[in-house]
Amino acid sequence: MRKIDTLIWHCSATPEGREISVKEIDRWHKKRGWSGIGYHKVVQLDGAVNEGRPMDKVGAHVKGHNTGSLGYVYIGGVTAAGKPKDTRTSAQKATMGRLTREAIEDFGVTKVYGHNEFANKACPSFDVQTDSTIQNAIKGRQPPRAVLDRKVSPAAVPVGRGGMAAIIAIVLAVLAAFLKAKGVW
Ligand SMILES: [Zn+2]
Repeated sequence: MRKIDTLIWHCSATPEGREISVKEIDRWHKKRGWSGIGYHKVVQLDGAVNEGRPMDKVGAHVKGHNTGSLGYVYIGGVTAAGKPKDTRTSAQKATMGRLTREAIEDFGVTKVYGHNEFANKACPSFDVQTDSTIQNAIKGRQPPRAVLDRKVSPAAVPVGRGGMAAIIAIVLAVLAAFLKAKGVW
């Protein structure tokens, strides 16, 4: 694992309430000539976390501060008209608190910033240094453990639409077989 001491929060700068996939961000960043998504983790509107660039790879999210940092992004950050706005859902806030704490405990992060502390930008559309979600997570952290290559639980990745459709199809098939056996159908 590379040496990490900083976590930097971003927003996707997309309109409030609009879900954006990792794939879509990956496409935007490839268009910029990067190897792919520049963020390490993406917090969806419902608070689910999707993995972006592998944690052991240097990200592409803040000019001059990618080495030694993790870049996490939440989906949202602007109004429908494109004006900066803290659009975080309560589920996103809960996840962002947890991810901040885990970055400190598991990856040796000692400094947490917003992108707007490094650039003349609104991103992430809130002040990390006064934000209660982030600051409470920092205060509530456990003493740092050894930095390990932490396996990301597959349970953290939500079942996609395809996966959900497959589950429903299986349930219906079992139900149909049951009804047939009973002679009901
Ligand atoms: Zn940013």
